Amino acid sequence: MAAMDATDAARILEESLERGLAGIRSAGSLDELEAAQVAALGRKAPFSGVQRSLGSLPEEARREVGRRVNGVREALRSAVEERRVVLQEAEGRRLLESDRVDVTLRGRRPRAGSLHPLTLVERQVCEIFVRMGYRVVTGDEVETDWYNFTALNIPPDHPARTEKDTIYLDVPGPGDLLLRTETSAMQIHTMEGQEPPVHIVAPGRVYRKETPDPTHLPVFHQVEGLAVDEGITFADLKGTLLAFAKAMFGEDQRVRMTPDYFPFVEPGAQLAVSCFICRGRGCRTCKGTGWIELLGCGMVHPNVLENVGYDAERYTGFAFGMGVERVALLRYGVPDMRMFYEGDVRFLEQFERVG
Ligand SMILES: [Zn+2]
Repeated sequence: MAAMDATDAARILEESLERGLAGIRSAGSLDELEAAQVAALGRKAPFSGVQRSLGSLPEEARREVGRRVNGVREALRSAVEERRVVLQEAEGRRLLESDRVDVTLRGRRPRAGSLHPLTLVERQVCEIFVRMGYRVVTGDEVETDWYNFTALNIPPDHPARTEKDTIYLDVPGPGDLLLRTETSAMQIHTMEGQEPPVHIVAPGRVYRKETPDPTHLPVFHQVEGLAVDEGITFADLKGTLLAFAKAMFGEDQRVRMTPDYFPFVEPGAQLAVSCFICRGRGCRTCKGTGWIELLGCGMVHPNVLENVGYDAERYTGFAFGMGVERVALLRYGVPDMRMFYEGDVRFLEQFERVG
């Protein structure tokens, strides 16, 4: 900068101070303040040009302008520091603000799950019998041949025992180990452990070699029931199951029993309930008959009572067993049992919610 005199220098310093203060005070953020500081005091600022030219001024003017340069520098620097404090406080408040919890906002309700339809049905079946005085018993899914077949009066050559139907476990153990094909084994365990009267329901998972299709699964659930005491008759069985059907499907339910054969009961029967879809007029669910087969039942075979050491002359009893999937399928109008196991939330969330 050639030929700058004291007057030029004074004017530039005044402008530098005025413009510099304006820039610093209007800075809206720490970044803008940094830029304003560089513009006012940086190497390329007019103020710095004056500073560099001090040496070319006459002695007298140099002292005068030099004092003024120091004064302007101090004024600009202290303005920067003042502004920095203000901006830092504002920044701190913004951070606090963004962290603040608004206690007046409505809460977000956590998404509640729903019970699996099979759980719902199993619980409901058990609750109905518990209200009638039955006790719920559960047991192991791995059983021996004795508990699953022999004690239940299933003859050695019965087809259910073959590897075609039953999953045997190839592990060392007491006799043949298998995955239980029915929860009836719990009847034997219970009767072995207590004297009559016995009133139990046994819910649980059972296994059979089945190819999955809309009405069959290799793993499914059963609830079996057993009552043993003096003087129990077939009428007690029918009365109990009628009470169950009314509690499960509605007060206007009727039941129908037809003869059937299971090795562990004599006589054995199939229980049908009046179709709760069409009220007996005939529909697709009941295949036009007005009746839906619900479960197998019968009077406990004397051999079974003797196998657990009960006096079959003194005691009689009845037993029944139903598939939970079948009951759920009928109750909810589900077309395919496999849907219960696919875990599709859109399907599962249609059932009763928890809580
Ligand atoms: Zn029907």
